[in-house]
Amino acid sequence: MGRRTAIVIGGGVIGVTSAYYLASDGWAVTLVERGEVCSGSSYGNAGLLVPSHVLPLAAPGVWWQGVKWMFKPDSPFYIQPRVDPALWSWLWRFRAACHPDRARRAMPLIRELSVASLDLYRDLAKLDGLEFAFRESGSMIVFLTASGFEHGIQEARLFGEFGVPSKVLDGPAARSVEPALRPDVVGGVLFPEDALLVPDRFVKGLARNIEALGVPVRQGTEVLRLRSSGDRVTAVETTRGSLAADTVVLAAGAWSSSIVRSLGLRVPIQAAKGYSLTYRRRDASPSRPWATSCASAGRSSWPGWICRSTSVGWRPSGAAPASTSSTRSASSCSRSGGVCGRARRTACPCSGGRRGTATS
Ligand SMILES: Cc1cc2nc3c(=O)[nH]c(=O)nc-3n(C[C@H](O)[C@H](O)[C@H](O)COP(=O)(O)OP(=O)(O)OC[C@H]3O[C@@H](n4cnc5c(N)ncnc54)[C@H](O)[C@@H]3O)c2cc1C
Repeated sequence: MGRRTAIVIGGGVIGVTSAYYLASDGWAVTLVERGEVCSGSSYGNAGLLVPSHVLPLAAPGVWWQGVKWMFKPDSPFYIQPRVDPALWSWLWRFRAACHPDRARRAMPLIRELSVASLDLYRDLAKLDGLEFAFRESGSMIVFLTASGFEHGIQEARLFGEFGVPSKVLDGPAARSVEPALRPDVVGGVLFPEDALLVPDRFVKGLARNIEALGVPVRQGTEVLRLRSSGDRVTAVETTRGSLAADTVVLAAGAWSSSIVRSLGLRVPIQAAKGYSLTYRRRDASPSRPWATSCASAGRSSWPGWICRSTSVGWRPSGAAPASTSSTRSASSCSRSGGVCGRARRTACPCSGGRRGTATS
């Protein structure tokens, strides 16, 4: 029997890792990417690997917050409001998913997936010639109000039910762990398992690695449509000709639903806007990723649920994603002021589940 063949559509973290594992398993793989490898959501993210994030994106209370954010173009979760039945049907399903029972059912699955994912990153970090600043530093949520801190403690207890270890720190203890925190931070919760990496370094590095394994990585090749016969995809039509394989892996992120429309399939994915900011590291920068809790903390409809407003990643040298006003170093770095790196908007595919788990 000949080698099994696969075409992977999309050169983001999902596509490149899928191609890697298929090729390692002996498949003959071709990867097609319409632009450059890692030009989608996988480029502009914070690189956080967070098995502590067991809450699905569709968590209790998120629906109403999400609707408010939808009308604010500079919010962290902006979906352009428009007359589009697919969007409103997605929002309706998302609303149904924002229920405590659904969230509780999802949490052990998310936990298991994230822990398994982190194990794989540990293995990948040992690959020859692949360096992506993988660092198991832990992460921290910090609080500026006593009520927010109290909810953070409840949340940590809730996560503990799903096997997430954490350490609650009062203000002075939080500052001794993270000296960059301002004096008015009232407390923090440390999640020691969490890790981080430099996302573009990882995805581009692994893409070079799969090319060395013999996988053709066809950049500048856009998939236009899929042809099918019965329940099988028979051809992948691209701007550079038609391809065929035993298996097709669709990993085109926020654009996936438009590709399968040619098969009459509806994949309920809506693109939302996220943003990331990269600026040069200062001496007083935090040494591990952290997030602040947002103003709604303490008013959640579900005890223990907290909305994180800002996540901050960390780069090993030169540049770090921007921080917010909870650290001393942030005083000269507001949303646009004091920024000397690059700012980028990225499409974030939201499938009504949680944020992409391949990187977390
Ligand atoms: C601001 C921000 C911060 C984030 N922070 C984190 C984080 O800290 N941790 C975490 O785990 N996740 C984070 N995420 C989520 C994470 O970035 C995504 O879940 C992940 O990158 C999705 O990867 P992907 O491969 O599915 O999609 P993408 O990276 O978007 O890749 C899809 C690829 O498909 C290509 N493509 C599209 N259409 C076609 C076509 N027709 N033909 C060929 N190719 C096509 C695109 O060009 C693109 O390169 C963040 C997201 C955002 C926006």
